Amino acid sequence: MRKQIVAGNWKMNNDLAESKKLAKQVVKKIKKGKIKDTKVIIAPTFVSLASAVKATKKSKVKVAAQNMHFEESGAFTGEVSAKMLKSVGVKTVILGHSERRAYFGETDAILAKKVDAALAHKMTVIFCFGEVLADRKSGKQEAVVEQQIKNALFHLEGTAFKNIILAYEPVWAIGTGETASPEQAQEMHAFIRTTIKEKYGDEVANSISILYGGSCKPSNAKEIFSKPDVDGGLIGGAALNANDFYAIINSF
Ligand code: PEP
Repeated sequence: MRKQIVAGNWKMNNDLAESKKLAKQVVKKIKKGKIKDTKVIIAPTFVSLASAVKATKKSKVKVAAQNMHFEESGAFTGEVSAKMLKSVGVKTVILGHSERRAYFGETDAILAKKVDAALAHKMTVIFCFGEVLADRKSGKQEAVVEQQIKNALFHLEGTAFKNIILAYEPVWAIGTGETASPEQAQEMHAFIRTTIKEKYGDEVANSISILYGGSCKPSNAKEIFSKPDVDGGLIGGAALNANDFYAIINSF
């Protein structure tokens, strides 16, 4: 059975006090609610990770980092390593977010190294990818997505690949209010699963969770999550409000 997952990417929002407050609100909602099988992840900024780990300790909410470097340590000013994340209790990391690719020059080759470093530390990776609007307009979305996945992940063995959570995030839908239709999401997720099946076989393909990301909100989550190859969501803006985030989690 594939895991249902809802992850909140807080991006560069919330200072320490605000992050602690939001983490606690999410924990409270989950405890009060009747969420059974859905895995919940929150991803605050680096400075708030340790406090978020503490705030979520006795709950089913897990904490992820939004990025990490592939080296262990050294002269990489401003960077944080997998070992450092593990030292504060963080075992999950988001890699390849389109904002990292677009604003910080992260290439597939760099991401492949980051994936390797995270897996070497037995971390779970939420790997993001997705086409820009021009790719979709010219019908190249599947080719683009296939390349992103192949370039950064297909050097992995099947056993390692199972530690990846995929997040399909069409760039044109991120923070724009424009969402892929449930049909567009399903079509792409099915394509992604077939691509994985061709490389790793049925067992791996059927065990991998593929999340949708891009202006997912309480009003559209239910329909998107109802699609057979959509296993949850990576949520940006709506994850900054505990009520909205909980409503999305509750959409399965
Ligand atoms: C994201 O940044 O991963 C994202 C999906 O953002 P939003 O939900 O705000 O579109």
